[in-house]
Amino acid sequence: MTKSKILVIGAAGQIGTEITHELSRIHGKEKIIASDIKPEAKDIFKDIEYISLNVMDQKAFKALLEKYNFDVIYHFAAILSASGEKNPERTWEVNTKGLLNVIEAAKNHNIKKIFWPSSIAVFGPTTPKVDTNQSPYMDPTTVYGISKLSGELWVSYFNERYNMDIRSLRYPGIISYKTAPGGGTTDYAIDIFFKAITTGKYSCFLNNNTFLPMMYMPDAVKATIELMEAPKKSLSIKTSYNVGSFSISPELLYKTIKKRIPDFKIDYQPDFR
Ligand code: NAD
Repeated sequence: MTKSKILVIGAAGQIGTEITHELSRIHGKEKIIASDIKPEAKDIFKDIEYISLNVMDQKAFKALLEKYNFDVIYHFAAILSASGEKNPERTWEVNTKGLLNVIEAAKNHNIKKIFWPSSIAVFGPTTPKVDTNQSPYMDPTTVYGISKLSGELWVSYFNERYNMDIRSLRYPGIISYKTAPGGGTTDYAIDIFFKAITTGKYSCFLNNNTFLPMMYMPDAVKATIELMEAPKKSLSIKTSYNVGSFSISPELLYKTIKKRIPDFKIDYQPDFR
């Protein structure tokens, strides 16, 4: 039997890219297979084996699981919040059916552990905004949030009913600079830095005082890998764990950047996000 491998799905995205490289650093490049729907993403991974895969294509996915001996899957493929509102049905399909494809395939191929990220988008207008506990009232208002909340329930269902080991974190907005963000509401907090440097001005789609929870990428990578390495018996949450870092508003970021780039300008054009 060949040595078992780790499969990263959605590996070419903002988080997948960094997790894939960190897993390769920890376990060695021969242990990792990176995959994404984008064939051109091969170039990102250089010495890590890359396979182009649409997670909705059950036949291709099954063939991949039969070819290799995987023991762990990280599933990052999704359509994010702001992009999701432009095509709700496709977002539901990719986010929910994509997750079920991964879980079903894993169940039939003896995969020991899966990581799948949920999001703060599971919370809604009536969820307490400060010190939000693990199980508050959740009434998401975007198709992305609805897909994540139902994903959490599917994860819990398979964990309870089939004794699977699917682990999850409710990521806040992840701030990084290596890969362009994929269309989330918190992406402004990345874009603002790029615009400050490239054009000296930024038009923000949120109000100046909208505070959103964020996390720096290295902390998100660390939290993810630590959760995956924790002994199963130490985990009590079957859905998805809250994970927190800091909250920030566009105005605060603007003032901070202005200290370095005094001519930096911002205007606020709040939209559906
Ligand atoms: P991203 O959009 O940057 O990356 C997602 C990747 O999935 C892309 O490379 C895309 O090509 C790929 N993909 C899309 N459809 C696919 C399909 N059918 N088959 C295979 N690959 C497909 O997103 P991200 O920011 O890296 O987010 C990764 C995960 O983390 C998602 O589940 C997202 O909901 C969750 N999350 C992200 C954030 C954040 O701030 N980035 C916050 C909360 C949760």
